[in-house]
Amino acid sequence: MTVSKIEWTDRSDWNPIRGCTRVSPGCGGPGKHGGCYAEAIAARFSDPGQPFHGFAERTSSGPRWTGKVEVQWDRLTAPLGWRKPARIFASSMADWFHEALPAAEIASLFAVAVAAVHLRGHTIQILTKRADRMREILESEAFWGQVNAEAGMHVMERTDPLDRRWGDARATLEEYGPGKPPPGIWLGVSAEDQRRYDERRPQLEATPAAVRFWSLEPLLGGLDLGLADDDECYCDFAGRGFFGSFDRRHAAPCPKAGQPDWVIAGGESGPRARPVHPDWARSIRDQCAAAGVPFFFKQWGEWAPGEACGAPPTRTEQTTTWWNEGWHFGTQTPADGRNGHGDDEPDLYRVGKRRAGRTLDGRTHDGMPGGAA
Ligand code: SF4
Repeated sequence: MTVSKIEWTDRSDWNPIRGCTRVSPGCGGPGKHGGCYAEAIAARFSDPGQPFHGFAERTSSGPRWTGKVEVQWDRLTAPLGWRKPARIFASSMADWFHEALPAAEIASLFAVAVAAVHLRGHTIQILTKRADRMREILESEAFWGQVNAEAGMHVMERTDPLDRRWGDARATLEEYGPGKPPPGIWLGVSAEDQRRYDERRPQLEATPAAVRFWSLEPLLGGLDLGLADDDECYCDFAGRGFFGSFDRRHAAPCPKAGQPDWVIAGGESGPRARPVHPDWARSIRDQCAAAGVPFFFKQWGEWAPGEACGAPPTRTEQTTTWWNEGWHFGTQTPADGRNGHGDDEPDLYRVGKRRAGRTLDGRTHDGMPGGAA
């Protein structure tokens, strides 16, 4: 089942949190380029009587969050009612670890995630830019005590004694903690440039999770991921599986300790979208290949290199070229481009997200953790 336009998930319609605030350039700059799609959508539906009234607003410099952030309790248990197992991007319109959300409320969200894995076989994908708070909370024994208690309660509430599968789930519900994170919950951190990657990397690497991943989008610069190559590993992982195998991860002093299980990269869409240089995407692809990390190229966004643009331009297009550490914008008329779109010269053309697509050097990259389809 796929009810999401986000390429790396099946569903993005579980949104138990409303509201957020910008935290770094990937969220958008003040009145300038790019911006958070959630903020733009929320502002569109922020009139009195609409779902995001009070959470976002339209201002003269564009959409803005107001700073109000709340759990939507009436949506809390939605995934428990979805019978078909799916990968669920939880809260695609907010950040689970926003500072305005008390840890006890985040525990309730996690409890539902745990129950959704046990009861329905879902995979829950959680993405944050607040990696420090995620780590702090998930390292806390008290937090997991709350999760386990609440998860047990949700399982009990939802258990129909006539449904054997649910009954089995109740019988097998485990206790989780910092040393034993639940299977089926993937924790990801978003970073857009080298500074944010370097700041957030130690936090993600230390966060207890069955699967840890990066979302490097909107990619705003080249990144050195600092991954160790496969041949640098000396761990013995005969029979190692990804799920529920936290205790068999690469451990220090192995240079691959903390390495992510998955990397997603992509560009920005929307009216003020910023471009991705093809070499930034290629470099991340190649670093992942050398380190044995699955790589998923999500999209170019609004701007694409010539090879992804198809037929010669039939109308004047915006172009951009990267030099001297910055983008330089121009236009190309159909007469200028009658021989087609040059590959990387100018570097990128604004052809829109749909036409730009998601091939990199002629193919898609759809890597998933542990080879999950
Ligand atoms: S953290 Fe995510 S949801 Fe919040 S403003 Fe930034 S991009 Fe938007």
